[in-house]
Amino acid sequence: MNDYQLTAIGHIQSPYKQKFAIPRQPRLVPEAKARLIFSEQFNREEFVRGLDEFSHLWLLFRFHETADKGYSAMVRPPRLGGNERKGVFATRATFRPNAIGMSAVKLDAIEYKQGQLSLLLSGIDLLDGTPILDIKPYLPYSDAMPDATAGFADTRPETDMLVEFSEQALEFIKTQRQYPDLKTFITNVLKQDPRPAYKKQTPGEQSFGMTLYSYNIRWQVSGSNNTVLSVEYR
Ligand code: SAM
Repeated sequence: MNDYQLTAIGHIQSPYKQKFAIPRQPRLVPEAKARLIFSEQFNREEFVRGLDEFSHLWLLFRFHETADKGYSAMVRPPRLGGNERKGVFATRATFRPNAIGMSAVKLDAIEYKQGQLSLLLSGIDLLDGTPILDIKPYLPYSDAMPDATAGFADTRPETDMLVEFSEQALEFIKTQRQYPDLKTFITNVLKQDPRPAYKKQTPGEQSFGMTLYSYNIRWQVSGSNNTVLSVEYR
């Protein structure tokens, strides 16, 4: 009676190929572009007729990468430095019952090409391959609540992170004409300071790596300075 089976209506093709460095909420990095590919059963234009009248939509999805790890009643929200615990329902943590996530994202276009229906989206916070359970149009008159309060998560997370690029990284990026936003995209991902909380408390120089699209990106952090050392093909 209380158990349900869900069917993914599609999945996401995202530049984020691993969990590390994905922004913690949608629209923090507007250059993060994705494609929602509809599954065969829902691959018909009728399903999205009228959706082009909306600028934004809600995606309901499955945290598929971590769903098998179950849930915790209490979690440590990263914005509290990983030290304080809150009830899972007071957070947007991934380790939650049913492993369902929701993100409000920008709808850039609806495409039906060579028999495949897809949505072009931006500002996403989803891993490549994320299964989509439902789509709903974003309704500003009801969904936007300018006087809402949000306790420990009341403000947009801002950091004082600065981002610069090595000569090699800049030269490589210049040649990647298919992604004209690549430099801004990397900059805005790093400005979010994706390091785990405990690393932020560790002094000294640190190096990290992430994969965006088909690129391996390495950078070094020293205080609030990020230097992108290299951008290379995977
Ligand atoms: N906006 C959504 C929400 O509120 O439900 C997601 C918030 S959750 C804090 C965002 C994080 O989920 C990202 O930083 C990324 O690490 C993780 N994530 C994104 N897609 C995922 C997936 N398919 N499986 C597991 N974790 C995922």
